[in-house]
This record gives sequence, C-alpha cells and structure tokens, in this order.
Amino acid sequence: MRSLLVRNATLIDGRSAIDVLAEAGRIAAIAPSLPAPDDAQIIDAQGQLLSPPFVDAHFHLDATLSYGLPRVNASGTLLEGIALWGELKPQLTQDAIVERAMQYCDWAVAKGLLAIRSHVDVCDDRLLAVDALLQVKQRVKPYLDLQLVAFPQDGLLRSPTALANLKRALDRGVDVVGGIPHFERTCAEGAESVRILCELAAERGLPVDMHCDESDDPLSRHIETLAFHTQRLGLHGRVTGSHLTSMHSMDNYYVSKLLPLMAEAQVHAVANPLINISLQGRHDSYPKRRGMTRVPELMAAGINVGFGHDCVRTDGPACRADDIASANARLLRRGHRQQCANSGAGRLRDCGRQPGRFRAAAGARCRRGDPPARAAPRGGAPRGGHRAHAGVGGDTAVARSSRHGGLVTPTLSRRSDMTSR
Ligand SMILES: [Zn+2]
Repeated sequence: MRSLLVRNATLIDGRSAIDVLAEAGRIAAIAPSLPAPDDAQIIDAQGQLLSPPFVDAHFHLDATLSYGLPRVNASGTLLEGIALWGELKPQLTQDAIVERAMQYCDWAVAKGLLAIRSHVDVCDDRLLAVDALLQVKQRVKPYLDLQLVAFPQDGLLRSPTALANLKRALDRGVDVVGGIPHFERTCAEGAESVRILCELAAERGLPVDMHCDESDDPLSRHIETLAFHTQRLGLHGRVTGSHLTSMHSMDNYYVSKLLPLMAEAQVHAVANPLINISLQGRHDSYPKRRGMTRVPELMAAGINVGFGHDCVRTDGPACRADDIASANARLLRRGHRQQCANSGAGRLRDCGRQPGRFRAAAGARCRRGDPPARAAPRGGAPRGGHRAHAGVGGDTAVARSSRHGGLVTPTLSRRSDMTSR
C-alpha cells in the first residue's frame, strides 16, 4: 500500500502547518515538514482542517435511499413516515436492502464517516433487514465500523411478535438493544417496554440505545424511566437516549431534576438535528418549536452528547443531506451555535481512534465557516447539494470506496462550484 502524506493541515487541537504521514493504512507520524517517502501520494491540505473520522451515532441503513417508495410522505410527520415504512416493508427484498445500504456506505465513507450506529427494524417476522445489514456489516468491516441496534419500530408491546423477533435478532449477532417507548399504546406500556428492554440488555451484557421521547409532548418522559432502570440495573455508561425531543417542550423545573438523574446514570444523549428540525413542531401554529433536544444543557450537566444523521433520502420530509457535517452545521444554525462550536473539536477528538490507529483513508477536510461544497464520490455522486452554510461543512479529500477498494479523491469544489439549494 502506498504511503500517504498530507501536508500543511490544521488539526482539531488548533495546530497548523502540520504534516501527517500514513503508512500501511495507519498514521505513522504527525509533525511539521515531514520527509516524503519515495512512493508517497502527497496531498496539500492548504491549511484546511484534517480531522479524525466522523462518527454517525444514529442512522437507519435499512430504510436509506428509499425516498418515494412506495409514495412520498404527504404530511411530513413522523407518524406518516412510520406508516409509510410499514407499507414498504412487505415489498422489501434482502438484495434491495443490501444494495441500498452498500450504496449509502460508499457515500458515507466518501464523506469521512468511518463509524455508524444503525438501527435495524425487527418488526418483520422474516428479519430480512436484520440479515441484510448483518451481511453489509461483514462486507464493510475492513473500512467501516458498523454497529447494529435491534429496533422494534412498531413498538415492543404494540407489535405482537416484536419481543421474540428482537431476541432472534440479538441471537443472530445484532449488537445493541433498541426501543421506542413513546410509540407504545400508553405511557404505562412505554415505561414497561423500557423495563423489559433494559433487563434484557442486562441479562445479555449488551448496550441499550432507544428512540426516546421523539415527540413534542412535554409529558413524554420515558428518558426518566430509562435513567431509572439504567441506575437500577447498573448499566451505567452503556445506555443511550436518542432524539429526546420532548425535552425541548418540558417544564424547566422538571428538566432541572431530570438532567442530574441522567448524569448519575451516565446515560448518553444523541441528537439528530437534520431530521428533528424538520419533523417536530408539525402540529404547531405559532410559535413553531424547533424540535431539538437541549444540547447545551445536557453538556453542561456532564452528559455525553453525540449527533446522528438518522435518515438520508428516506420517507421523512427533508432527509436529503448526505454527510454528518451537515447535521452539525444545521445544529449550529439553530441556536446551539457557541456551545456546539466549542464542543465540536473535542467530540471529534473523542470519536477518533488512538493515535497511530487512525485509518489513513479517512481524512475529511473542511474549513470552519466555508460555504457548502459538493463532493463527488466515485460510483455515484449524491443528487442535489448540501444545505449547510455554516460550521463544519465541507468536502472530503480522501476516502475509501467500498465498491472500488482503493483510495478515492473526490473532486474538490471551488467556491464557484458550490450550491445553495
Ligand atoms: Zn432513528
């Protein structure tokens, strides 16, 4: 494998004019003015940011690239999105899921993502999506860490076979226990589902990641129950609450009690800005709520906050962005600007692997404040352009393509080439 030398990069710790040398797929040296090996491919970063790989903490690979199938979401609501997925499921084939997921993995890697946690729907007795994504996980393993969450989309208790299917999915190798308590028939059933799933995770020694309180209802408080069972069962640090959008509408006094409970249980939070800014507040007249969980407050309470893409080209109303940088940029624009800008570098640093173990084929580069840019991964450029206009937007300098094996250098955009669609 050829050496790769990236010259004149800015690192996330603020150092500038730094060279990074990768040999045999691993970072070998980080210093100014490194000598170039004879066979090295050299890239001039021109002072732009060179970061560790991005991590997408929340995604749905089984549904990706299915926009318009079997029809478009007319209301733009989450509930119609879930109903549409239900209509599509009987028509799915394992090959089609694999094909779409592999195509998305190409796009993701070309945008600098080398780790994805994907939920996979287990409310299909055939477990087609589970088998498909387990196959995808093996195929992308050499270059992409794909972790799967057994997700009972139709409700653990609401769907008669969900619990049995979820256990079957775990038996087949799915890594994480999922849930969706706010979609159960009642609050009590939602709380019961949280108890069952946390106990299952404790029995099997698995992590938990639940879609939790993805709602505008301030009384959707399953995160409190999730923190309670995490504490009760000693699952500290292994449990994640995804979305948590009801928190944006909760009473402040209640939140002042809730956040310490989450911190005590070491429950992590994952926000999905691209999707929830579009989905939430659909029933509002005016004022219309933003739909974001309380990111600055969660972080101030010492709770880990990650960001996810959730969907790309699926049945949601505005799920068309193509990279995790856009998710962060959208967050920055929605009132979390300073806190997230400050935290961004730290989170990226945390997400990276140990020094010397970064995968050389994963350099994503961009410059803070750059206008949106369009990358062109070989094997199919995403249609349309980015909507990001601020923050950590940009394009990928070097990535590995799952279809083509070797290094890919997408066309780097010029300002004249940028889109504002
Ligand atoms: Zn989700």
